[in-house]
Amino acid sequence: MKINSAEFIISNSDVNKCPNEPLPEYAFIGRSNVGKSSLINMLTNQKNLAKTSSRPGKTQLINHFKINSNWFLVDLPGYGYAKVSKKSKSIFQKFITEYFEKRQQLVSAFVLIDIRHEAQKIDLEFMQYLGESEIPFGIIFTKADKVGKTKALQLIADYKKKLLTSDWSEMPPYFITSSEHKTGREEVLEYINTINQD
Ligand code: GDP
Repeated sequence: MKINSAEFIISNSDVNKCPNEPLPEYAFIGRSNVGKSSLINMLTNQKNLAKTSSRPGKTQLINHFKINSNWFLVDLPGYGYAKVSKKSKSIFQKFITEYFEKRQQLVSAFVLIDIRHEAQKIDLEFMQYLGESEIPFGIIFTKADKVGKTKALQLIADYKKKLLTSDWSEMPPYFITSSEHKTGREEVLEYINTINQD
Protein backbone atom coordinates (compact mmCIF):
# COMPACT_ATOMS: atom_id res chain seq x y z
CA MET A 1 0.00 0.00 0.00
CA LYS A 2 1.28 3.41 -0.93
CA ILE A 3 0.85 6.04 1.77
CA ASN A 4 -0.39 9.22 0.08
CA SER A 5 -1.42 11.06 3.20
CA ALA A 6 -1.15 10.67 6.95
CA GLU A 7 -2.93 13.26 9.01
CA PHE A 8 -3.23 13.70 12.77
CA ILE A 9 -6.92 14.06 13.68
CA ILE A 10 -7.43 14.04 17.44
CA SER A 11 -6.03 12.91 20.80
CA ASN A 12 -8.25 12.10 23.72
CA SER A 13 -8.97 9.77 26.58
CA ASP A 14 -12.68 9.46 25.86
CA VAL A 15 -13.77 6.90 23.32
CA ASN A 16 -16.97 8.86 22.72
CA LYS A 17 -14.88 11.71 21.36
CA CYS A 18 -13.05 9.59 18.81
CA PRO A 19 -13.84 10.49 15.17
CA ASN A 20 -17.35 9.66 13.99
CA GLU A 21 -16.45 8.77 10.44
CA PRO A 22 -17.16 5.11 9.78
CA LEU A 23 -13.71 4.28 8.43
CA PRO A 24 -11.96 0.99 9.19
CA GLU A 25 -9.60 1.35 12.08
CA TYR A 26 -6.39 -0.43 13.15
CA ALA A 27 -5.06 0.04 16.67
CA PHE A 28 -1.42 -0.26 17.70
CA ILE A 29 -0.64 -1.09 21.29
CA GLY A 30 2.20 -2.48 23.37
CA ARG A 31 4.33 -1.97 26.41
CA SER A 32 5.88 1.45 26.79
CA ASN A 33 9.16 1.77 24.92
CA VAL A 34 8.38 -1.17 22.62
CA GLY A 35 9.00 1.07 19.60
CA LYS A 36 5.39 1.94 18.77
CA SER A 37 5.93 5.57 17.83
CA SER A 38 8.95 4.68 15.71
CA LEU A 39 6.90 1.98 13.97
CA ILE A 40 4.00 4.35 13.25
CA ASN A 41 6.41 6.92 11.81
CA MET A 42 8.05 4.21 9.72
CA LEU A 43 4.73 2.86 8.41
CA THR A 44 3.45 6.31 7.49
CA ASN A 45 6.77 7.55 6.15
CA GLN A 46 6.77 10.50 8.53
CA LYS A 47 9.52 11.67 10.80
CA ASN A 48 7.40 12.81 13.67
CA LEU A 49 3.76 11.85 13.25
CA ALA A 50 3.79 9.82 16.45
CA LYS A 51 5.93 11.34 19.13
CA THR A 52 8.82 9.11 20.07
CA SER A 53 10.07 9.38 23.57
CA SER A 54 12.25 7.37 25.87
CA ARG A 55 10.43 8.90 28.81
CA PRO A 56 8.25 6.37 30.63
CA GLY A 57 4.69 7.31 31.40
CA LYS A 58 4.47 10.03 28.80
CA THR A 59 1.01 11.44 28.19
CA GLN A 60 -1.38 8.57 27.71
CA LEU A 61 -3.97 9.25 25.07
CA ILE A 62 -5.77 7.64 22.15
CA ASN A 63 -4.38 9.24 18.98
CA HIS A 64 -6.21 9.03 15.67
CA PHE A 65 -4.38 9.43 12.38
CA LYS A 66 -6.25 9.36 9.09
CA ILE A 67 -4.36 7.50 6.38
CA ASN A 68 -5.01 7.97 2.65
CA SER A 69 -8.38 9.48 3.63
CA ASN A 70 -9.77 5.96 3.96
CA TRP A 71 -8.63 4.34 7.20
CA PHE A 72 -7.59 5.28 10.71
CA LEU A 73 -4.37 4.29 12.35
CA VAL A 74 -4.83 4.49 16.12
CA ASP A 75 -1.95 4.94 18.49
CA LEU A 76 -3.05 3.64 21.89
CA PRO A 77 -1.23 4.35 25.14
CA GLY A 78 1.61 2.09 26.14
CA TYR A 79 0.84 -0.25 28.98
CA GLY A 80 2.82 -1.92 31.66
CA TYR A 81 4.24 0.69 33.93
CA ALA A 82 4.08 -0.35 37.55
CA LYS A 83 3.41 3.32 38.14
CA VAL A 84 0.02 2.95 36.47
CA SER A 85 -1.03 0.14 38.78
CA LYS A 86 0.23 -3.08 40.18
CA LYS A 87 -3.07 -4.85 39.86
CA SER A 88 -3.12 -6.55 36.49
CA LYS A 89 -6.79 -5.68 36.02
CA SER A 90 -6.08 -2.00 36.08
CA ILE A 91 -2.88 -2.15 34.06
CA PHE A 92 -5.01 -1.23 31.10
CA GLN A 93 -6.59 2.05 31.98
CA LYS A 94 -10.34 2.09 31.82
CA PHE A 95 -10.48 4.20 28.70
CA ILE A 96 -8.40 1.64 26.82
CA THR A 97 -10.82 -1.17 27.64
CA GLU A 98 -13.69 1.16 26.79
CA TYR A 99 -12.05 1.81 23.46
CA PHE A 100 -11.94 -1.92 22.72
CA GLU A 101 -15.44 -2.51 23.98
CA LYS A 102 -17.13 0.36 22.18
CA ARG A 103 -15.24 1.06 19.02
CA GLN A 104 -17.31 -0.50 16.25
CA GLN A 105 -14.92 0.60 13.49
CA LEU A 106 -12.03 -1.37 14.94
CA VAL A 107 -11.03 -4.03 12.44
CA SER A 108 -7.87 -5.33 14.05
CA ALA A 109 -5.42 -4.54 16.80
CA PHE A 110 -1.68 -4.99 16.50
CA VAL A 111 0.14 -5.97 19.66
CA LEU A 112 3.75 -4.86 19.52
CA ILE A 113 6.39 -7.08 21.07
CA ASP A 114 10.08 -6.26 21.38
CA ILE A 115 11.61 -9.23 19.60
CA ARG A 116 14.41 -9.50 22.18
CA HIS A 117 12.09 -10.13 25.10
CA GLU A 118 10.69 -13.55 25.78
CA ALA A 119 6.92 -13.79 26.23
CA GLN A 120 5.91 -11.54 29.12
CA LYS A 121 2.92 -12.05 31.35
CA ILE A 122 1.43 -8.63 30.69
CA ASP A 123 1.48 -9.10 26.91
CA LEU A 124 0.02 -12.58 27.18
CA GLU A 125 -2.70 -11.27 29.49
CA PHE A 126 -3.47 -8.52 27.07
CA MET A 127 -3.75 -10.94 24.14
CA GLN A 128 -5.97 -13.12 26.28
CA TYR A 129 -8.17 -10.08 26.93
CA LEU A 130 -8.38 -9.41 23.18
CA GLY A 131 -9.24 -13.05 22.54
CA GLU A 132 -11.99 -13.05 25.16
CA SER A 133 -13.34 -9.81 23.71
CA GLU A 134 -13.28 -11.37 20.23
CA ILE A 135 -11.05 -8.64 18.84
CA PRO A 136 -8.87 -9.83 15.97
CA PHE A 137 -5.20 -9.00 16.37
CA GLY A 138 -1.83 -9.49 14.83
CA ILE A 139 1.57 -9.42 16.52
CA ILE A 140 4.25 -7.01 15.35
CA PHE A 141 7.73 -7.92 16.52
CA THR A 142 9.79 -4.74 16.76
CA LYS A 143 13.50 -3.87 16.78
CA ALA A 144 14.48 -6.89 14.68
CA ASP A 145 17.72 -5.11 13.74
CA LYS A 146 18.88 -5.67 17.31
CA VAL A 147 19.20 -9.41 16.70
CA GLY A 148 20.43 -11.36 13.67
CA LYS A 149 18.05 -12.95 11.21
CA THR A 150 18.60 -16.47 12.52
CA LYS A 151 18.19 -15.33 16.10
CA ALA A 152 14.98 -13.51 15.14
CA LEU A 153 13.47 -16.68 13.73
CA GLN A 154 14.50 -18.63 16.79
CA LEU A 155 12.99 -16.02 19.13
CA ILE A 156 9.74 -16.11 17.18
CA ALA A 157 9.65 -19.90 17.30
CA ASP A 158 10.08 -19.67 21.09
CA TYR A 159 7.33 -17.07 21.29
CA LYS A 160 5.01 -19.21 19.24
CA LYS A 161 5.67 -22.21 21.46
CA LYS A 162 4.84 -20.15 24.53
CA LEU A 163 1.61 -18.86 22.99
CA LEU A 164 0.53 -22.29 21.91
CA THR A 165 1.08 -23.70 25.37
CA SER A 166 -1.04 -20.95 26.92
CA ASP A 167 -4.41 -19.91 25.52
CA TRP A 168 -3.99 -20.21 21.80
CA SER A 169 -4.42 -22.99 19.31
CA GLU A 170 -2.71 -21.06 16.56
CA MET A 171 -0.27 -18.22 16.14
CA PRO A 172 -2.02 -15.00 15.07
CA PRO A 173 -0.72 -13.27 11.93
CA TYR A 174 2.68 -11.82 12.79
CA PHE A 175 5.20 -9.43 11.31
CA ILE A 176 8.91 -8.92 11.88
CA THR A 177 9.84 -5.26 11.74
CA SER A 178 12.65 -2.82 12.29
CA SER A 179 11.95 0.89 12.21
CA GLU A 180 15.68 1.45 12.17
CA HIS A 181 16.14 -0.58 8.96
CA LYS A 182 12.62 0.09 7.64
CA THR A 183 11.84 -3.60 7.34
CA GLY A 184 8.44 -5.26 7.57
CA ARG A 185 6.71 -2.08 6.45
CA GLU A 186 5.23 -3.42 3.23
CA GLU A 187 4.04 -6.61 4.93
CA VAL A 188 2.06 -4.74 7.60
CA LEU A 189 0.61 -2.26 5.10
CA GLU A 190 -0.34 -4.98 2.63
CA TYR A 191 -2.04 -6.93 5.38
CA ILE A 192 -4.15 -3.87 6.23
CA ASN A 193 -4.81 -3.21 2.55
CA THR A 194 -6.01 -6.76 1.99
CA ILE A 195 -8.43 -6.63 4.91
CA ASN A 196 -9.70 -3.21 3.79
CA GLN A 197 -10.53 -4.62 0.38
CA ASP A 198 -12.40 -7.66 1.69
P1 GDP B 1 7.24 3.79 22.24
O1 GDP B 1 7.37 4.24 23.66
O2 GDP B 1 6.69 2.41 22.17
O3 GDP B 1 6.51 4.75 21.36
O4 GDP B 1 8.73 3.62 21.68
P2 GDP B 1 9.63 4.60 20.77
O5 GDP B 1 9.24 4.51 19.35
O6 GDP B 1 9.67 5.95 21.42
O7 GDP B 1 11.02 3.84 20.90
C1 GDP B 1 11.62 3.55 22.15
C2 GDP B 1 13.12 3.43 21.97
O8 GDP B 1 13.43 2.32 21.12
C3 GDP B 1 13.76 4.66 21.29
O9 GDP B 1 15.01 4.88 21.88
C4 GDP B 1 13.88 4.23 19.84
O10 GDP B 1 14.94 4.87 19.17
C5 GDP B 1 14.17 2.74 19.97
N1 GDP B 1 13.66 2.00 18.80
C6 GDP B 1 12.39 2.01 18.33
N2 GDP B 1 12.27 1.21 17.24
C7 GDP B 1 13.51 0.69 17.01
C8 GDP B 1 14.04 -0.21 16.02
O11 GDP B 1 13.36 -0.72 15.10
N3 GDP B 1 15.37 -0.53 16.12
C9 GDP B 1 16.16 -0.02 17.12
N4 GDP B 1 17.44 -0.40 17.15
N5 GDP B 1 15.70 0.82 18.06
C10 GDP B 1 14.38 1.18 18.01
